[in-house]
Amino acid sequence: MTNDDRKSPPPATGANSQVEASSIGLSRRDILTGAGLGASGLLVAGATHFMNNLPDSAIQRLIATGVGTVRTGNLFSQDALHVITTGTGAPLPDPKRVGPQTVVIAGDQFLVFDTGPGSTRQLALTGLNISSVSALFLTHFHSDHISDLGEFMLQHWTMSGVAEPLNIYGPPGVDEVVAGFLAAYRLDRSYRVGHHGADVMPPSGFGGVAHTFDLGTDLMSSAVVYESGDVQVIAFNVDHPPVVPAVGFRVNYKGRSVLITGDTIYSDSLIHHARGADVMVSDALNHKMSQWIAEAGQDLDNNLSSVAEDIQESHIRPEEAALVAREAGVPVLIITHVLPPVPDVLINPFLRDARAVFNGEIRMANDGTLITLPVNSDQHSIRELLA
Ligand SMILES: [Zn+2]
Ligand SMILES: [Zn+2]
Repeated sequence: MTNDDRKSPPPATGANSQVEASSIGLSRRDILTGAGLGASGLLVAGATHFMNNLPDSAIQRLIATGVGTVRTGNLFSQDALHVITTGTGAPLPDPKRVGPQTVVIAGDQFLVFDTGPGSTRQLALTGLNISSVSALFLTHFHSDHISDLGEFMLQHWTMSGVAEPLNIYGPPGVDEVVAGFLAAYRLDRSYRVGHHGADVMPPSGFGGVAHTFDLGTDLMSSAVVYESGDVQVIAFNVDHPPVVPAVGFRVNYKGRSVLITGDTIYSDSLIHHARGADVMVSDALNHKMSQWIAEAGQDLDNNLSSVAEDIQESHIRPEEAALVAREAGVPVLIITHVLPPVPDVLINPFLRDARAVFNGEIRMANDGTLITLPVNSDQHSIRELLA
């Protein structure tokens, strides 16, 4: 295995900049909380009338509150390995899940894994400042893992007007993918520099720089592909037929670890690299449900049936992910990349066979699920940021 292009990450843009969160959006809660102060004494009909006719001064106050609110800063003040599943869906449309993305925050590092469709928006909605991202890592180049790359690079540049492009790490092919998105966004770059000026949008901060790591073809191979302070990122090969290369990642920080499988089928590589991790964020496809979709879609005039059947050979089953966690001694299994898309009522049936083989905690991730692993502890906590 080689690690032919390891680079040090750029310095953070300011003290604790990676955990400072600001949002220019108003959350529904912000609006309701602020409006409630003015409307609490009114009858319902009157309140409705009031809400429909808010004076400009009240609207301005609400907006100022929303813009100024640091919504998530305290969440990351604890010295811990923080994991957020900002995109938990897959290629098939799911009204509650955008494309794949997992975020890891540890020490002064803000690391992002994959840029599935819609994930940039979900990440921004958590209140985190994308300009503070230390590095982006890609697991493979299926469109559902890269299609937001252009938007992600753009937000990284424009949110705070950084002067350095995004560092993007991936297996061979990452340079080709990055170059394609850079070409597609080059016109947009000129519009924004022209509109806002080089002081606000430094041209040098546009886009990203690809860093290739090559793990070769041995399924068991792995390498440290990024290190900064106490944070270490290991890439390892996974088996995602017919895609080669495809990798997963393990992030270690002060004795706590998370394994991000990427897209994969069951393999010894997963068990080997998951050993001793605290949390495993795993791909999962329920083969039984997928097969039922294939059968139900046979008479439709589209490719749903054949696609639902083909994808079964490329993704791990929930119960297989549970076996990996069990064999590797991982106590918490977080299921993401949910295939097929299922309504809430089918989440427990989706996970039923996995729960039958695993005594640890199994949870279906949502967009915005935050798992916190404090250092000097074997505990964890889970909360939802976008619910
Ligand atoms: Zn894939
Ligand atoms: Zn995928």
